[in-house]
Amino acid sequence: MNDVALRDEDAGLATGQGEWVRLRLWAAGRHASAAQLVCRPDRPARVVQAVPAPEGRSLIARGGGQSHGDAGLNDGGAVVLTGRLDRMLSFDAASGILVAEAGVTLGDVLRTFLPRGWAPAVWPGTGLATLGGAIATDAHGDNHVHAGSFGAHVMWLELVTPRGTLCRAAREEAPELFEATLGGMGLTGIIVRAALRLAPVSSAFVAVRHQAVGSLDALLERLSAAAAAHEHASAWIDTATSGLARGRGVLQVADPAEAPRRKPRLWHGKWPGPVFPRLPNTILRLQGERRYRRAARPGGIAFRWPLERFLLEAGRPSAVRLVCVLPLESVGAATRRLFDIAERGSALPSATARMMGTHAGGMLSLARPGVELTLDLPAAATLPDLMHRLEREILDREGRVALASDAYLTDHGFAAMYPRLEAFRTVLAHIDPDMRLQSDLARRLRLRDYVV
Ligand SMILES: Cc1cc2nc3c(=O)[nH]c(=O)nc-3n(C[C@H](O)[C@H](O)[C@H](O)COP(=O)(O)OP(=O)(O)OC[C@H]3O[C@@H](n4cnc5c(N)ncnc54)[C@H](O)[C@@H]3O)c2cc1C
Repeated sequence: MNDVALRDEDAGLATGQGEWVRLRLWAAGRHASAAQLVCRPDRPARVVQAVPAPEGRSLIARGGGQSHGDAGLNDGGAVVLTGRLDRMLSFDAASGILVAEAGVTLGDVLRTFLPRGWAPAVWPGTGLATLGGAIATDAHGDNHVHAGSFGAHVMWLELVTPRGTLCRAAREEAPELFEATLGGMGLTGIIVRAALRLAPVSSAFVAVRHQAVGSLDALLERLSAAAAAHEHASAWIDTATSGLARGRGVLQVADPAEAPRRKPRLWHGKWPGPVFPRLPNTILRLQGERRYRRAARPGGIAFRWPLERFLLEAGRPSAVRLVCVLPLESVGAATRRLFDIAERGSALPSATARMMGTHAGGMLSLARPGVELTLDLPAAATLPDLMHRLEREILDREGRVALASDAYLTDHGFAAMYPRLEAFRTVLAHIDPDMRLQSDLARRLRLRDYVV
């Protein structure tokens, strides 16, 4: 086994085909990292060989490393990097079904199929996410009300089980394994191939409209109506104002539009993670004011998958992302409380909201009807304590924290938020009785901590 000095550089530079090396990997938020053995197999058959991991270590898969939390880390264990499982195997132009290996990125799918009039129906905000990662997190976009989560478009998947066998799961074939794998955070096995139904797209562009809304309650009400009426809807919430204006914001809606003459620019860069210094609250207030005023300007035509904008929009001093879904009835009051708690912890968050519809996902999917709130919080010494106070508030309001971005949720908070946890554990007890699959997230949430 090669011993590579611990570093956070692109793991692909360090690892060979199927050999194991030691490497430090980071979460996308760059506030968590772990040292482990990693290998980078280039064929599903080599993934089979990688299970079980050397030295009796536990194992987890990792795709594009785009999760903000510790889901793709396995401190002291082993990680299978799927980047070399990057082949697109077949495409049926009649049904739109693409069969591809799990390490294919969504950006690659877009670059290949957009010129032919197809795209992933659900877009989780980063083209660096892989097919396997989007399935294992059951990712969603700003069209959940219409399209559901990523898993709703997966026809079948093949995974290497913790016992090292190749197994296929679909809604009609091994349905429990299928449902546990959608959003199962890699704990049911290593996905090596999947069939994804792409959506036909008439245009790569959308007509975008903005509307400034003066209060939080009105903003959430309009967001709810807009999500039903438009293909895409989201809201930016101004957390830096005080008094009655607190929580005012800008509603953004977008619908397919005729293509302008310019060609869409497809993004090739690498998301660097939110590593910006913390800005003083006065600057944040000025930025918020400017953004709110700019919403009065007319909308325009934009590329439908505007990845490069994340670099600008995430340019707030954030290191930690908290994503949660809150029931519609209590979201206004809950959001105000979350802002108060964050401000008392001197962590004024950057906040956005999107609607989630009634589409159910996998056993551990975030999906539930309500409003999805994303808070980007600056890293601070008090952060764990602050995150636990925010968790209690979300729990009291019957909300749910997303696992894909989480690094702070407690085990009892998690158990209370995910009602299908026991069903998930039953599948794990069957498929992985020796508990070979583990991750930092699974250990923190005591996800495998049960009596078989
Ligand atoms: C800028 C930005 C915006 C984002 N916006 C959104 C958003 O709008 N909606 C949303 O849902 N998410 C969003 N995310 C989070 C991210 O897009 C999702 O978590 C994504 O699905 C992760 O894919 P990945 O390939 O990077 O997986 P990783 O981060 O590498 O892994 C995530 C989980 O999937 C598991 N996994 C990965 N590959 C496999 C495999 N082959 N087999 C089994 N398990 C596997 C890992 O074990 C881990 O538990 C965003 C992230 C960023 C950086």
